[in-house]
Amino acid sequence: MNYPIVEIFHSVQGEGYHSGVSSIFVRFGRCNLRCEWCDTDFNKFDYKTLDEVVEIISEFDCKNIIFTGGEPALQDLEPIISNLRPKGYKFSIETNGTVELEDGLLDWICVSPKDQLYPNLSIKQRTGNELKCVYVGQDLSMYDGLKDGFEHLYLQPCYNEKNDIASNGMLFRETVDVVKENPEWTLSLQTHKWLGVD
Ligand code: SF4
Repeated sequence: MNYPIVEIFHSVQGEGYHSGVSSIFVRFGRCNLRCEWCDTDFNKFDYKTLDEVVEIISEFDCKNIIFTGGEPALQDLEPIISNLRPKGYKFSIETNGTVELEDGLLDWICVSPKDQLYPNLSIKQRTGNELKCVYVGQDLSMYDGLKDGFEHLYLQPCYNEKNDIASNGMLFRETVDVVKENPEWTLSLQTHKWLGVD
């Protein structure tokens, strides 16, 4: 088993429900989408075996793993999980939702759908713990058929060179207003970007 790995590193979750929680990020290469705001060069990766991935993870003093990417649901995650779960690890995934996940495999599922960019996108993973939507001005009614499958709803203003707080805070302020008008949603900020940490 070889996995396309962009990087594996220990940091703190910067966004969503687990903001501030010490976590190991396993960032896989490859994605089936091409979002205009994507901040990951997911085509630059090295292949690593299951043993190599497990060895790198084991070097960190942390038991929370976040599978991210790229699109981690394109990978066979079961061998990594089977190897590490008996050692006390917990597993989260950040996925775009276009691939249905195996029931019960992960401890925490965060779906970040990109149908505000791709109107005909079919979201296959329709249940999970966290629905985290990048806000670019879309009408929230587009999530009416999806949001009931999730415990927590997050709206996260798109953060890129056009929308950082210094040069253009409009989208940030608009997101705050939308959350005030739609209180079932919670504001999520990419605090790691504000802090300048990975
Ligand atoms: S789904 Fe995520 S990783 Fe893939 S292109 Fe979009 S932002 Fe990037």
